[in-house]
Amino acid sequence: MDKSELLVSYLKQTEELFGNELYISKASNSHEKNINAKSDLEKYFLEISECQKCALGATRNKFVFGGGDPQANLLLVGEAPGAEEDRLGEPFVGRAGKLLDKILKAIDRSRTKDVYICNVLKCRPPNNRDPLASEVEQCEPYLLKQIEIMRPKLIVALGRVAGKTLLKVEQPLKEMRGKLHDYFGTPLIVTYHPAALLRNSNFKPATWEDFKWIKSILDN
Ligand code: SF4
Repeated sequence: MDKSELLVSYLKQTEELFGNELYISKASNSHEKNINAKSDLEKYFLEISECQKCALGATRNKFVFGGGDPQANLLLVGEAPGAEEDRLGEPFVGRAGKLLDKILKAIDRSRTKDVYICNVLKCRPPNNRDPLASEVEQCEPYLLKQIEIMRPKLIVALGRVAGKTLLKVEQPLKEMRGKLHDYFGTPLIVTYHPAALLRNSNFKPATWEDFKWIKSILDN
């Protein structure tokens, strides 16, 4: 699915949810904050949390909408919930989540301070397999709506699968890293998934370089 097809899919889903009150916020790609982001996200959660648009709706334990500061300038996006996330309904928990918290602390941020975290898919694929294209097609419009509500300054895709899924490319992580991409008008950076750092600490220096760059973008 290319970006224009994704946009059509998003508009269709928005039409289903909001009927003829279909619109794209004029400020969706601006950094002007939405002062109602918290309540808008809460309403949106209630609208989609029973979703059964793809087969993962039947196998999930918990729908994982995302969490953090609704006014955040930094939006972190993973590929899909894992086993712990599925159990608790929260994104990035467990050992990888704890490491992510440490990384965020090092750039003077936290889940409650200028960071929001979510996934492309809101439900866990069985056995942590990669998301299927058909699942992404159904679920990615939800992420687009979250972005429209939050208007982050920067999106960071965590890991190769999140990066390639959002950018619609088949590339290794090293080719996606170190570049400022565009995701429907919002700058996007791809870096390592914290779980990859747990498996291989050699990735830590590069990740730290990425997060210093992320901080400099957010601070300017
Ligand atoms: S993965 Fe997304 S599209 Fe599929 S059931 Fe869950 S919320 Fe719906």
